Amino acid sequence: MAEPPAQARFRGARALAWLIVALVAAAAVAWIGAQVASVRAPWLFFPLAVGVALGAIAGGAALAMHLKHRPTLWFGALASSAVVVVGMHFLAYRASLDTPRSGNLAMITEAFPDVAERHGTAPSAGFSDFLTRMAQQGRQLPIGIIARGGWAWATWGLDAAILSAAAIATVLALTASYYCDICGAYYRLVRQETLSGSRLRRLCETFDTQSPPDATGDFRYLACRRGCGPERMTLAFRTPGSRSSHLNAWIHPADRAKLFQQLDQTG
Ligand SMILES: [Zn+2]
Repeated sequence: MAEPPAQARFRGARALAWLIVALVAAAAVAWIGAQVASVRAPWLFFPLAVGVALGAIAGGAALAMHLKHRPTLWFGALASSAVVVVGMHFLAYRASLDTPRSGNLAMITEAFPDVAERHGTAPSAGFSDFLTRMAQQGRQLPIGIIARGGWAWATWGLDAAILSAAAIATVLALTASYYCDICGAYYRLVRQETLSGSRLRRLCETFDTQSPPDATGDFRYLACRRGCGPERMTLAFRTPGSRSSHLNAWIHPADRAKLFQQLDQTG
């Protein structure tokens, strides 16, 4: 038995490299999201889906780059969510500038700017003007509700909160694996097999426990590449008709060979 591994510490170069990847991914997600949103964006579901997609890319990158430092993960997930939220609104603004106006409308806009203003057809004076006007026009929600002014801003805020929460949850879920801070790498699966009968009983005796009768055990052993720190053994007991129980332990690397040798003995 050994103590659990230490918390991951901050690693500057790795954090910076990951942040760059996460922000570039966020820009790409914002661009794709804006294209999709211009066709269809189901309320509440859309920001959730975009947040999960962003979190999957950022979390996958953190795994591949062996980044585990929690505050860095939080900061990166929040910053890239902000890029997506602002980016999608900004791309909608840019698209509104590019929308060609029909000849008549262009003439009216030119001749009667105040009429055009009232009908919301005059070009926006800038990004914040565009947002203010979109809020005034109102946002169509399901069951025929239109959110205007402050309410429109509130629904955008809700979208942003859902998107960020989904991104953070996905990043944290993907990077929940054990991590060795000595060599700076996530643990990998070293051995996995199903144990039954005497092999399972003998393993349980080693840890001073008894296996439930008729149980089989799913054995998993995780360790870092270099085997520097404590290694993780998990054993899930499966008994027909009852809930599974677990036996988990931190193992000293020096004891791994002995444990595996014991597993290899059959009979
Ligand atoms: Zn290690």
